[in-house]
Amino acid sequence: MQHRLLKWFHQNKRDLPWRTNPSWYKTFLSEIILQQTTVAQGLPYYQKFIQQYPDIKSLAKADEQSVLHLWAGLGYYSRARNMLKAARIIYTEHDGVFPQDYKTALALPGIGPYSAAAILSISYNLPHAVIDGNVIRVICRLYAIKEDTREKNTLNRIKKHATKLLDKKAPGDFNEAMMELGATTCTPRQPLCQSCPINRFCIAYKKNLVIKIPYKSKPAKKKKLINLVGVIKNKSQICIMRRPDSGLLAGMWEFPILEIRDWDNLDIHYDRFKSRFELTGQLGIISEEMRQIYSHIDLRFKGIILNTAKKSIHKNDYVDVKWVDFSELKNYAIHNAHKKIIAWLADQ
Ligand code: SF4
Repeated sequence: MQHRLLKWFHQNKRDLPWRTNPSWYKTFLSEIILQQTTVAQGLPYYQKFIQQYPDIKSLAKADEQSVLHLWAGLGYYSRARNMLKAARIIYTEHDGVFPQDYKTALALPGIGPYSAAAILSISYNLPHAVIDGNVIRVICRLYAIKEDTREKNTLNRIKKHATKLLDKKAPGDFNEAMMELGATTCTPRQPLCQSCPINRFCIAYKKNLVIKIPYKSKPAKKKKLINLVGVIKNKSQICIMRRPDSGLLAGMWEFPILEIRDWDNLDIHYDRFKSRFELTGQLGIISEEMRQIYSHIDLRFKGIILNTAKKSIHKNDYVDVKWVDFSELKNYAIHNAHKKIIAWLADQ
């Protein structure tokens, strides 16, 4: 099976920039960027990062705001912050080289079992099996594992199979081949079993169970949040604030917000907004409802323009405040939800 899969991989692998003149740094960047992201979405970000930070030294020396700014739009901003922290540790504590020891790699910020196994196997040919969504699907089908893949026991079983299957002579290629097979052939819906290089070994295929496997129970419901987003204007300038360095969207810039329960009694919410930020001024137009879905949060929000004569404002929990022209907003790492507010403002 290993031989067939590797042969297929070498003949069919996608032409991706981190596969040309590969290095641990390229693998590190691409693996962090591609977590919870498709190749199509992550590719332009990889290209921006490798251009701006071509090596570990340039990334380690980058400031966080520049990294967040380049990352803006990709979501999961803690990944960008952790990538930068890891780069700094690699540069200062590991002589600028990704550590080869699995436990030392795992101790780096943002490096979990998946990234550690991927980087160590692809860059150093070390025998660590990668387990991601694609590999889970392929293994469940190969062995007709019907149990819930959200369960720890099921994942342990999958891990054992993955470790046993791993080609010890070419672990990096084998891991990449498994992920590639899952991404291009053993897809969630309508897998291309007829042309699959390992269909003769696949129990789900033989038993006609492919569409039923893998099974994953429904996730817990997302928390619902409603925000009133204040676009506070003083002549041509707009107020933006930076969120604290921990928690949701840590360190990102945004327009000041007020969390509310629902859209009823808007007048009361406006007054609460003004008193929260210690503002006086005139309320302007309000936007339609907008929405942003995060992994655990379903956020609904509306923008409201407020014209104020003074620039004094209460920061609350924010760590920084800036008054900027509309054209300067693009220079700040503003998270995706509030980019929708910018798009709305551009239409006014
Ligand atoms: S035969 Fe079908 S289900 Fe089995 S591994 Fe190949 S693509 Fe996946």
